[in-house]
Amino acid sequence: MSRVRVLLALLVAVVLTAGLASAAEAAPRKWPKGRITYVDKSKDPDAVKLAVQVWNSSGLRIKFVKVRNVRKARLVIQNTRRVPSGCGSGFGTLGYPGPGRKAYVSILHGGDADGQGCAWPGQTLVVAHELGHVLGLNHNMSGCSLMNTSHTNGVAPTLCLGDDVDASKPGRWYCRVLEKVDLRKVKRMYGGKPRLREPEWCDAIERIPASGPVTVAQDPDTGWFTTTVTRAAEPAVPGWIGTWGYGEPGYEIHATPAACTAVPGDDSTQVGIGLWGDVPVGGTLTEDLQPVPAGPVCLSVWQFDRGYNFALAPSTVMVTGTGARDASLRAPDLPPRARPAVAVVTPFD
Ligand SMILES: [Zn+2]
Repeated sequence: MSRVRVLLALLVAVVLTAGLASAAEAAPRKWPKGRITYVDKSKDPDAVKLAVQVWNSSGLRIKFVKVRNVRKARLVIQNTRRVPSGCGSGFGTLGYPGPGRKAYVSILHGGDADGQGCAWPGQTLVVAHELGHVLGLNHNMSGCSLMNTSHTNGVAPTLCLGDDVDASKPGRWYCRVLEKVDLRKVKRMYGGKPRLREPEWCDAIERIPASGPVTVAQDPDTGWFTTTVTRAAEPAVPGWIGTWGYGEPGYEIHATPAACTAVPGDDSTQVGIGLWGDVPVGGTLTEDLQPVPAGPVCLSVWQFDRGYNFALAPSTVMVTGTGARDASLRAPDLPPRARPAVAVVTPFD
């Protein structure tokens, strides 16, 4: 999505909030005893299960109770094509609908091409948001809140992300789900002792456990290094992760003086990159590095998957750098990192 479209989406989200705020002058009603029986007719059972779990374990005096029979359910969670903003958005009844009436949460199930916002981590946020409406919560744009009007990439509610575009990178998500302000507002209606969950961020994909081993050779004339890295096995990456960074799996090599303190993705310490191409797991790739500083230097190899998610651990090797002896020799270039603009802002509704 282009920057202009992102801005437009934000604008629409802001206008939607304004509209909802004025329409919701009459306070939403609370559910008797905070008990809501529901039936799950959606195509996102994992997301529904997790969203319900988050609310039910919040310490608030509310409970979503799953039932098999639609007739016994006061809340129907269903798949729908009629969502205003495509998949990643939905709608939910605001508050208790009254005796004999049902409440509804409607979401649109997405495919792999639709991104994280329509897969389980993102849909969990959407369902949890709609359940917030069902409990009686209105939108809240005062800061990071599950009840923000929109989410970004299904990673987090939009105001929970800073300006850093890497923060909205698919592959992780805001697994705390309920913010302090959300808990406070529901407590005011239903009571209880709300608990703020930790940690805030979770991996939405399985990470490469460890980077492959590395061996190093040094050119006696130039003092420059050549590294040979063995490709370690990588867990399968789900289709909805899309591409980020180089769009192809590989590894980065970083050089830090004296100690192995490199942080993957840090352009200031990067001295080499390899993209696997046809190299199979267990195969090797040899790359020339850019000159490293003189003296003891740690080379850290961080393998990454095609979504530019780094291995949990690097491989490291200590070398003695000489700096560039002959400045007229051309150092190998680092390819620029292609970072697609993927900050897709979708209204929750
Ligand atoms: Zn909403």
